[in-house]
Amino acid sequence: MIFSDNPLGMTCGMVCPTSDLCVGGCNLYATEEGPINIGGLQQFATDIFRQMNIPQVRPPNLPADLPESYDAKIALIGCGPASISCATFLGRLGYHNIDVFEKKDYVGGLSSSEIPQYRLPFEVVNFEVDLMKDLGVKVHHGRQLSLSDITIKGLQQDGYEAIFIGIGLPEPKKISIFADLNNEMGFYTSKDFLPMVTAASKPGMCSCKSQLPSIKGVVLVLGAGDTAFDCATSALRCGAKRVFVVFRKGFTNIRAVPEEMDLAREEMCEFLPFLSPRKVIMKNGRVSAMEFVRTEQAQDGSWIEDEDQTFKLKCDYIISAFGSGLSNTDIQSALAPVRLNRWGQPEVDVHTMSTSEAGVFCGGDVAGVAETTVESVNDGKTAAWNIHKYLQSLHGLFVPEMPQLPKFYTPIDDVDISITICGIKTLSPTYHLA
Ligand SMILES: Cc1cc2nc3c(=O)[nH]c(=O)nc-3n(C[C@H](O)[C@H](O)[C@H](O)COP(=O)(O)OP(=O)(O)OC[C@H]3O[C@@H](n4cnc5c(N)ncnc54)[C@H](O)[C@@H]3O)c2cc1C
Ligand code: SF4
Repeated sequence: MIFSDNPLGMTCGMVCPTSDLCVGGCNLYATEEGPINIGGLQQFATDIFRQMNIPQVRPPNLPADLPESYDAKIALIGCGPASISCATFLGRLGYHNIDVFEKKDYVGGLSSSEIPQYRLPFEVVNFEVDLMKDLGVKVHHGRQLSLSDITIKGLQQDGYEAIFIGIGLPEPKKISIFADLNNEMGFYTSKDFLPMVTAASKPGMCSCKSQLPSIKGVVLVLGAGDTAFDCATSALRCGAKRVFVVFRKGFTNIRAVPEEMDLAREEMCEFLPFLSPRKVIMKNGRVSAMEFVRTEQAQDGSWIEDEDQTFKLKCDYIISAFGSGLSNTDIQSALAPVRLNRWGQPEVDVHTMSTSEAGVFCGGDVAGVAETTVESVNDGKTAAWNIHKYLQSLHGLFVPEMPQLPKFYTPIDDVDISITICGIKTLSPTYHLA
């Protein structure tokens, strides 16, 4: 039932910010016993299923002789949660020419490259991708959206009738005071640091046999989202003596969910609110301290930076975790003729996940609404239904307005466990036949 609704049900059980989502909405939240641990139950159920090693099969009620429209070639760019979800639902609908193009040599997007192993092991990501591949979806590694490789126009010329863009937001946002700094000097962005940690700590993810970055002394992590807390806890695992998470606003404005902060606190990270970075102080070619000014909230709610209140903190490393964006002009040019918005990302109709170009859809972080795995999965799901509608309409076939996405099936559904007692037949509990 879980995988019917969400092809990344196990990943979501492990990483969903549940206190903001399902658990936060649980009726028992206000009781003394507290809410039901929905994410934990979801993780438990899906993990038991994973250990059974059972493949996914195409829905048994899918006709053997589907019309020609189901032969359409479909391309998905990027193999993160949004594309995995979209490709899975398209596979279940009966499409069998589905190609995922991924620039890295591993699958899973940020679930693999940035979410640490102790929160989301690589084998979980691989398990869900294998379920997608069971439906015949092909993943091509080392292929990237770029003028020198894959472009939207090129895919259209190659006969792809529908395209899904799920490349996430690949570039870190940096502020000008860090412009001339690099890893050797003791400065990392989260997008430099976390992939180095995961490459060394996720067995089976890459064949690079790299080592964890060696971090000694005091680390300042700048930011207050999921990413900042993952950087902080990872820095401790890499050998840091003390980690300070420094952010501009107060605790009440923090973007990460309480579970994330609690985890960082349990691991002895320190928090420094109301500080805005001003200057990096260098010594012998390495970072040695940072200067901050205090931020305050004015009466009208706006934030001001008080240059009279300065604060200097000694450190050996700085990791910035200010979020990410899409600013690479090569990728933006490869997206043509898709219209881009003022942030350089595709303009997307959030009801259908379609772009300005017919047959080109987009979802996940790059589409600008999703910020979590489960929201990216949902984007992929919405796009799958609208890709289906689009492809069938090209062949003059009708698809209902209300989505009717096929569920998750395995060979277990084919086992007949109906029994007859005293002449009364009790059917197999196969909910798909209901
Ligand atoms: C450190 C961190 C921690 C997070 N923690 C959580 C959490 O606890 N819970 C939660 O729900 N969400 C979390 N998130 C957010 C969540 O990971 C994302 O919302 C989700 O992964 C977005 O999925 P996506 O498919 O849109 O993109 P991504 O996961 O970014 O996947 C995009 C894929 O496209 C590939 N790609 C990029 N550029 C190209 C190109 N030019 N050509 C081909 N392929 C390309 C990438 O290699 C990648 O595989 C976290 C994010 C980060 C950074
Ligand atoms: S997928 Fe939905 S129900 Fe499941 S853990 Fe995430 S938010 Fe909760």
